[in-house]
Amino acid sequence: MLVIGGGPAGMAAALFALRAGAQVTLLERNDKLGKKLYITGKGRCNVTNVAEGEDFLAQVPRNPRFLYASLGFLSAEGLRALLRELGCDTVAERGGRVFPAGQKASDVTRALARGLAGADIQLGARVSSLRALDNGGFEAELESGDSLHADTVVIATGGLSYPVTGSTGDGHTLARATGHRVTDTHPALVPLETADDWARPLQGLALKNVALTARRGKKTLFLEQGELLFTHFGISGPLVLSMSSVLAGLPLKEVICAIDLKPAVPAQELEQRLARLLAEGGRRPAASLLPQLMPRSLAQAFPAVCPVNLQKPCSQITADERRQIVQALKAIPVRLTAARSMAEAVVTRGGVDVRDVDPSTMMSRRVPGLFFAGEVLDVDAFTGGYNLQIAFATGALAGHRAANMTFEEIE
Ligand SMILES: Cc1cc2nc3c(=O)[nH]c(=O)nc-3n(C[C@H](O)[C@H](O)[C@H](O)COP(=O)(O)OP(=O)(O)OC[C@H]3O[C@@H](n4cnc5c(N)ncnc54)[C@H](O)[C@@H]3O)c2cc1C
Repeated sequence: MLVIGGGPAGMAAALFALRAGAQVTLLERNDKLGKKLYITGKGRCNVTNVAEGEDFLAQVPRNPRFLYASLGFLSAEGLRALLRELGCDTVAERGGRVFPAGQKASDVTRALARGLAGADIQLGARVSSLRALDNGGFEAELESGDSLHADTVVIATGGLSYPVTGSTGDGHTLARATGHRVTDTHPALVPLETADDWARPLQGLALKNVALTARRGKKTLFLEQGELLFTHFGISGPLVLSMSSVLAGLPLKEVICAIDLKPAVPAQELEQRLARLLAEGGRRPAASLLPQLMPRSLAQAFPAVCPVNLQKPCSQITADERRQIVQALKAIPVRLTAARSMAEAVVTRGGVDVRDVDPSTMMSRRVPGLFFAGEVLDVDAFTGGYNLQIAFATGALAGHRAANMTFEEIE
């Protein structure tokens, strides 16, 4: 059996195939396994999440139902038990995020490598083409010109995000060449660019506990609370990454996006608070009150997005103007222009069309004996350990099923 790609999905596939008694060759184009895994979770590797069932699937904006069987085959608990068995204890932190107890991504890779003893691991081996043979089985050609034959193949080459780690979309090319549909790809979990010049001086400012909304027409696409970061090109931070996944592939210029600085305070209450501040402010310009309502750097930029002239003395602000200020505090407009590129995206939206893959085995519905696992598939999740769990679970199921497949079944 051949596994193409030595990321989490490919390593899991190889490991579960070995355990099912298969002879496994794992081909990885880089000179080490799991290059992307090393940089996950800022080097700590948020390896999974304790969320289960519907709670887990709620964190998967793209094709969640496809994952029922694979997550049933290798759950978060199952993955943690496997890592423990291989010498890597894990700990759950805030939000159910699970990390290796040693807080190092390399602990996870090392544990998996231990589980792969017995596999033929070929590094620096990039597969350039794959052909299903007429009499069954496959021929994979390597960039070096060598070719390999196998009865079953797992494609676990990742998506297009962070291409420096080796995921440059080869799996999509191999899938297309073997007759599979590949859906349009877009960067997801990615910072967003804006056209808001007023916000440029704010780069580096992090706003905690704000709400971010995105609407298109009458439909609210996204409304969540969390942390947002201003950058030199636009916005980033956990809240923005999540929103980017919901908006992936949509024309961003049609999306109305706004920041609520005070999501926990209803407009009426905020207006009363503002009225009190204005009453105390007397002849001082209304703008001088802003640092009591927001960070100082934002207070300097805020007048640009407030329809009221905040240079007016506090005592001259009318009730209607007060309402307008509150409205601006609760909906600072953000003009989105584009997502940043794949080079900065945590995951890829799009990939091998899940309609062409049987979710109960991960085998292609078009080419028997060919399996897909991990980010190469058109499945992606929010941050929190879900993407790695998906890679491990789909990889494990694919490897297990590929190994247990007899030649008759393939035919
Ligand atoms: C900066 C960053 C941080 C992240 N942090 C987290 C996190 O903390 N938690 C989380 O759940 N998710 C995280 N993710 C997402 C997660 O890393 C991916 O979803 C996951 O790695 C996908 O696994 P995979 O095995 O499908 O693909 P990959 O990890 O991309 O592995 C694919 C492998 O295939 C190899 N390959 C590609 N083409 C070929 C070829 N033709 N021949 C041979 N080999 C080939 C590649 O070199 C690569 O090693 C993060 C992603 C990034 C970019």
